[in-house]
Amino acid sequence: MMQKPAHTLRLYDTMTAQKRDFAPQNPQNVTLYVCGPTVYNYAHIGNARPVVAFDVLFRLLRDQFGPNCVVYARNITDIDDKIIAKSVQSGEPIAQLTARFADIYRQDMAKLNALAPNYEPKATDYVAAMIEIIAQLLQKAHAYRTETGVWFHVPSMPTYGALSKRNLHELEAGARVDLEPEKRHPGDFALWKAAKPGEPAWDSPFGPGRPGWHIECSAMIGAVLGQTIDIHAGGHDLIFPHHENEIAQSHCANHAPLAQYWLHNGFLSIDSEKMSKSIGNVLLVHDLLKHYKGETIRAAMLSAHYRQPLDWTDQLLTQAQAGLDRLYGALQRLAPIDADPAAQAEEVRAALADDLNTPRAMGALFGLATEANRATENAQLAEIKGKMLDAGGLLGLLSEAPNAWFQASDDLDIAQIERLMEARGAARAAKNWPAADQLRSELTALGVEVLDGPQGAVWRRIGR
Ligand SMILES: [Zn+2]
Repeated sequence: MMQKPAHTLRLYDTMTAQKRDFAPQNPQNVTLYVCGPTVYNYAHIGNARPVVAFDVLFRLLRDQFGPNCVVYARNITDIDDKIIAKSVQSGEPIAQLTARFADIYRQDMAKLNALAPNYEPKATDYVAAMIEIIAQLLQKAHAYRTETGVWFHVPSMPTYGALSKRNLHELEAGARVDLEPEKRHPGDFALWKAAKPGEPAWDSPFGPGRPGWHIECSAMIGAVLGQTIDIHAGGHDLIFPHHENEIAQSHCANHAPLAQYWLHNGFLSIDSEKMSKSIGNVLLVHDLLKHYKGETIRAAMLSAHYRQPLDWTDQLLTQAQAGLDRLYGALQRLAPIDADPAAQAEEVRAALADDLNTPRAMGALFGLATEANRATENAQLAEIKGKMLDAGGLLGLLSEAPNAWFQASDDLDIAQIERLMEARGAARAAKNWPAADQLRSELTALGVEVLDGPQGAVWRRIGR
């Protein structure tokens, strides 16, 4: 029997522009879709923000509805103009290039403690489903053919623009110089791009070609999760045109809404500037992971509410690391105590249920660390430790053993440190204090500090 969650999950829905109680269509099968990467390059830190934010949502849903009752799909776009260009430029075949970067993406996101989605559909595996939707849209007069492909006709859908709150006149006025003279309306977008020489192409009833980007998500959502899903999420920059166009395609083909809740994460800037190739401030997750632990990057990400803009700085990472050191320090002191497995971090749970308020949740977690440092009773310590681990599980933090957290480093000679620790232990056991002090100095010189406790001595990296 499923226990009723103590805190009702409320989510801010972009479509209705308000926080709403979350009620899935079927609590046994809660569906979540997040638009995934186009795999031709390393993911930058802005790409990682929705992955981490909506991983917290995934964890929360699994906690509330049961781990087997939540289905999360995140797609991989493996055909696209940029992929083709990169393949031509590097000579690496498209299939090899996209498989390689999809693997790197999975590894980097796993290092941020993001759980793997249940499904990771690849666009090229669903071209038949895309063709089927396009055929339906043509048949229902929501689309038309030209020399260059098949286009969705935006004025054919009276509610087009509902998500991004734009109307057709604004679209017309805001349209840039039109490079596609065959389009009937400036807002019309490509469903199918007719084959160009040298480009990969699939056969279709409307001639050889390849799908447009938006139709990929509509087809994969329908094939993997169903016509109407519970939650569709992604970056704020996808609201228009990508999500608006996904809605148009799916709604007009199925006469059913695409999603019940639309969630969008805010922008990420670097040192107050927009991340861009021209400025040269593009920060790759792959590179950051060479200098910081994945959990540190994740904690930095979660220090801001997902809908707020986040300015990424070195200071943010330093603070995140210091905060995690504090939490792991408390857990290290609690090492001899067995955690109470039934303890729940109510304040953390309440904060996360309120539209994933991670800054408030992290604040409550730090409060538990403070309590841990003050408490003396074993039963109390066991409860606090249980609550800290409960909160860590929901936030995707505190997944390491405390000693491993403090010891991890590329530039330390672990074997030598362990030898000196052992020799020092022997010197102390023999009450040879000058030798023990000498060994402690040698350890300090290697960059580690020694902490003596009732369970023996442990070491940690200085400054961690
Ligand atoms: Zn999408």
